[in-house]
Amino acid sequence: MIIVTRSQVTGAEHRQVIELLQQLAGSQRPISAITMQGRQVICIDGNSLDAQAHAALSQHNAVERIVSTSTPYQLVSRAFQSEDSVIVVGDLPGSPPVTIGGAAPVMIAGPCAVESREQLMEIARAVKDAGAQVLRGGAFKPRTSPYQFQGLGIEGLQLLAEAREATGLPVITEVMEPEMVDVVAQYADILQIGSRNMQNFPLLRAAGSHPSRRPVMLKRGLASTIDEWLLAAEYIVAAGNPNVILCERGIRSFDTHTRNLLDLACVPLLHELTHLPVIVDPSHATGRRELVPTMSRAAIAAGAHGLILETHTDPNSALCDGRQSITPAQLRIITQQTRLVAQIMSDPAVLDYVA
Ligand code: PEP
Ligand code: MN
Repeated sequence: MIIVTRSQVTGAEHRQVIELLQQLAGSQRPISAITMQGRQVICIDGNSLDAQAHAALSQHNAVERIVSTSTPYQLVSRAFQSEDSVIVVGDLPGSPPVTIGGAAPVMIAGPCAVESREQLMEIARAVKDAGAQVLRGGAFKPRTSPYQFQGLGIEGLQLLAEAREATGLPVITEVMEPEMVDVVAQYADILQIGSRNMQNFPLLRAAGSHPSRRPVMLKRGLASTIDEWLLAAEYIVAAGNPNVILCERGIRSFDTHTRNLLDLACVPLLHELTHLPVIVDPSHATGRRELVPTMSRAAIAAGAHGLILETHTDPNSALCDGRQSITPAQLRIITQQTRLVAQIMSDPAVLDYVA
């Protein structure tokens, strides 16, 4: 259940509402309160307050509305916010910000890992030229084996900032530990929380409570249900950061032909359950570059707000994930095709044309 106070309630009124809620719900129940658009938003788990308690709360003059959700996640639910969230990314002077969550699909592209200045600059310029609006590149890499390339660390972050200066593209990069949120937020426009960390609760809280409120792209865990994923997103929002983007990147399955199983049905389902933007990562979902163009078109047709595509100028010599990396020339075609797919879906005049 969510209780939203009127704007400009005093600290005393806010405390009164919390105390009343504690009396009604029992003092053992965890209550979280954050400020959103000038209002206090107070959440407790479940909908167990009876009609009398509900009436007592709604009659308090500091309370504007009470939302009862039938789901365990609350702030990220459609019941709480019916309109889509649109997240604005990038604050480099002279470069227009990028919006994620609107009708036009957003293309995020770049190498799996930042390997060197030359590699990153060449790829950054090439992906921009091919139509990408955000540059990706891992500086801290969560690798399965400790003997694989682990990323350039802080140097990689500095190179990403250089690439942003050179191209005007905002950058996204992964943060793996709560202690690193501060430094990654100094360089990155979007924090990526990877699959392996989707339920790293201290990391989710740290990304949610960082004063920069940097947008966070939360990738679906390797074997996570949609409810677990949305509850992970809820951790970030409940810690104070509403700027969360979900990323479907495939889940574990039994077949070995593809690296993962791309769950495209989750895209329209998520639109029903949550107001957060959803993007799809066909690179990690398939593990094979020849499948990426088709699954990119399918993802946009399924309603994704954008794509994140591993792109390399020399995929066969990439230090990480070369097998699934496309070239900038392929990226250009995917960008053009998916733009058309999105137009077809959003333009009612297309139906007249076909008829
Ligand atoms: C990545 O984006 O390079 C990555 C490691 O992704 P995931 O967390 O989805 O495996
Ligand atoms: Mn990768």
